[in-house]
Amino acid sequence: MKLLLFDIDGTLLLTNGAGTRAANRAFENIYGVSEAMTKIDAAGKTDPIILQEIFMNEFNRDYSPEEAQELYKLYIPFLEEETNNSETTVMPGIPSLLESLSSREDMVLGVATGNIEQGAWIKLRSAGLDTHFKFGGFGSDSHSREHLILKAKERAKDHMNYNTDIKETFVIGDTPFDINHGRAAGAVTVGVATGSYSKTELEEHRPDHIFNDLNNLKIVLEIFE
Ligand SMILES: [Mg+2]
Repeated sequence: MKLLLFDIDGTLLLTNGAGTRAANRAFENIYGVSEAMTKIDAAGKTDPIILQEIFMNEFNRDYSPEEAQELYKLYIPFLEEETNNSETTVMPGIPSLLESLSSREDMVLGVATGNIEQGAWIKLRSAGLDTHFKFGGFGSDSHSREHLILKAKERAKDHMNYNTDIKETFVIGDTPFDINHGRAAGAVTVGVATGSYSKTELEEHRPDHIFNDLNNLKIVLEIFE
């Protein structure tokens, strides 16, 4: 069995600022600071790391677990609202790629994302892509992308009732973080330049495969053979 782990933001979809607006609103609501999330370069980072950077930026200190819970409690309904009120963009080729991969008996699909789990499912639902995924590794599992990739792998085994061996894991993502942490987790890495990094920038991190986008189904499918 092959395990394919997809990053969400910039790889499967773009929420067109809904995630940023939801996080900004949560910070504004609790701390009265505006545009807290806008000031951070969040691409490829996990939610706990983003939170840490915002706290350092605004308050010059780290956050407590209670503060994170309080923020997430507001962020989740705000994210639901913001994604309902705006268009989520699905990246080129993704619907037919997922359709094709989902039908394969020798492959299992999951997500490996820095989003906390509830946020990840909201984003996937807003793009109509949630039905292709049953499990994943999330920012709520670990601040480390490497660890959440390993967590996704554990859940994949769980999902298959430990009946099948995972022969190969692929990590597909749009940032150097996906490539470097995917490699560290022992995965075959696939870079795709549909997010905020160009193909040239991603190439510097030597992914096993690299694409401008995943639109050419035939060529993309070949790398998983
Ligand atoms: Mg991404």
